[in-house]
Amino acid sequence: PWSCSGLAYRAMSTKVPERNKERSFIMIKPNGVQRGLIGEVIKRFEQKGYKLVAMKFMQASEEHMQKHYTHLQSKAFYPGLCKYMSSSPVVPMVWEGLDVVRTGRVMLGETNPGDSLPGTIRGDFCLHVGRNLVHGSDSIENANKEIALWFREDEIVTYTAGQYDWVYD
Ligand code: ADP
Repeated sequence: PWSCSGLAYRAMSTKVPERNKERSFIMIKPNGVQRGLIGEVIKRFEQKGYKLVAMKFMQASEEHMQKHYTHLQSKAFYPGLCKYMSSSPVVPMVWEGLDVVRTGRVMLGETNPGDSLPGTIRGDFCLHVGRNLVHGSDSIENANKEIALWFREDEIVTYTAGQYDWVYD
């Protein structure tokens, strides 16, 4: 009786190491929503073993997108990018797990979909840099900033993932 339920018991009682609680801000961009790829993006993070801790479906204002992309203010594409990103709904999410910032970027592919390998989200589903489908934080510091911009503390859900002991040793 312990072979299976023992693992479930351990997940409930063992403290999760800090490194397994890293968080990244991942957002499905307007074309990901419009092209019916919400499930595809979520599926990949779920299947990898990451834990969803926050998610919204919303249309953001241009001002909000300007804050999100404030580091790109000097770029020629910045106004168009902020306008595009606020033109249609997006799916902002927080995913949690080991190395999720770095590995999340690997799963997304390169900024330019043309440089992204097949098997990555951008490599598999898009063509143009201005329509690269998904955003992912590029550092832990930026992940924390982006999570704070998009989610209140009480919108981040604390729970034990049933698969924990089948994902981590
Ligand atoms: P990433 O999203 O991969 O972290 P950046 O932070 O450099 O990349 O850029 C943010 C977003 O701005 C990109 O995801 C892309 O949608 C858009 N972008 C970047 N470069 C260009 C460009 N040359 N023309 C149009 N859009 C661009």
